[in-house]
Amino acid sequence: MELRFGEKEEALRKEVQAFLKANIKEEDASGGFMNRTDEAFEEAKKFNAELGKRGWIAPAWPKEYGGLGASIYEQMVFNEEFGYHGAPDTGTRGFGVGMIGPTLIIHGNEDQKKRYLPRITSGEDIWCQGYSEPGAGSDLASLQTRAVRDGDDFVINGQKIWTSGGHRANQMFTLVRTDPEAPRHRGISFLRIDDIKNVPGLTIRPLINMANRHHFNEVFFEDVRVPARNLVGEENRGWYVGMTLLDFERSGIGTTAGQKRTLEHLADNLKAGPADRREKYRVKLADFVIANNVGRYLGYRIGDMQAHGKVPNYEASVVKIYQSELGQRIYNFGIAMLGLSGQLVPEEPTAPLGGDLPEQYLQSVPSTIYSGTNEIQRNIIATRGLGLPRG
Ligand SMILES: Cc1cc2nc3c(=O)[nH]c(=O)nc-3n(C[C@H](O)[C@H](O)[C@H](O)COP(=O)(O)OP(=O)(O)OC[C@H]3O[C@@H](n4cnc5c(N)ncnc54)[C@H](O)[C@@H]3O)c2cc1C
Repeated sequence: MELRFGEKEEALRKEVQAFLKANIKEEDASGGFMNRTDEAFEEAKKFNAELGKRGWIAPAWPKEYGGLGASIYEQMVFNEEFGYHGAPDTGTRGFGVGMIGPTLIIHGNEDQKKRYLPRITSGEDIWCQGYSEPGAGSDLASLQTRAVRDGDDFVINGQKIWTSGGHRANQMFTLVRTDPEAPRHRGISFLRIDDIKNVPGLTIRPLINMANRHHFNEVFFEDVRVPARNLVGEENRGWYVGMTLLDFERSGIGTTAGQKRTLEHLADNLKAGPADRREKYRVKLADFVIANNVGRYLGYRIGDMQAHGKVPNYEASVVKIYQSELGQRIYNFGIAMLGLSGQLVPEEPTAPLGGDLPEQYLQSVPSTIYSGTNEIQRNIIATRGLGLPRG
């Protein structure tokens, strides 16, 4: 058994590393689309536009849609390097490439593919996900937002919640109830809503999270008209389209790569700090490096399954649980290691490591909730992985 990338991937890695070093300023290294400020968001837009010119927003997509037709292993190299260097995003790569794009490739018609996919790979469209509602999270099939057919349109009424990046997006994909009489899963449709900032009746209200950031939103629909051609897949069969989208779990390689960088920063800090602190924390730090490498290899397993045409199932749940819980422990440890000043946020000029640790810690708390809570993931492992009966 030989566990390493080939020469082609390693050559690509060098190219990607050189580009990222030249194009990401330290202060913009956000590790995703949690842009703290409008300026950071604008920088992320510019960064994605540069990626788009190279076909690097969705390298694994076919060339006709603006990708490179890259292999899964090459995609893994991109993910790993983007994660390590904290490549900023607007939501284009997360929701566009990670979710709606592959869903359109499978369920969309030719018009939808031609219209939307190139706008993702150029970085132009920024998508958000309108799934959750106040009464529908883990039990998503209980969603109540209603869409009624009226001529060539659907008219939508209801509410979505926790819509990440909704205030910055121009596009939304959403699940709505189109047949309230049908069994729960069979009366749901999958709709795209274009130009969400300018649609009459659609209101986006901020929700400020525990890190004091405006990350997600509530979205209200009052007689919002959407053309019926915006349906993806068949009317009332949207549940299956929506679930395809949730299957596009990422391998989490970017997450462990970002944590690797944090651990390196903590090691540098220990080296430069007093000996008694080094003595106190070095072994624990070494433990986290081992644990993070385990996470990395679990992620490689997902990538390797995909490269062999398999669809990761409970294996992706293992990765999601392991990496989200490890992230919380690493950032918590880092804050403790840095002492009282370790709690200073990025806005404080004297914050050690740029205030990255408390920011990352607060952002890591919800990681065990979003993308399917870790309790739900454990249920999946118990039933699909271990073959245990439900309930
Ligand atoms: C940071 C963040 C960003 C998000 N972004 C988006 C977004 O962009 N778009 C979107 O649509 N949604 C988004 N969400 C919502 C997310 O998908 C939901 O929070 C998640 O599905 C859980 O639903 P809930 O919050 O309603 O909790 P509930 O489903 O009410 O769960 C409450 C608790 O009960 C547990 N529980 C529920 N059912 C079971 C069960 N069967 N077995 C065992 N335990 C169970 C859960 O694990 C949890 O601990 C986001 C959430 C967060 C935190």
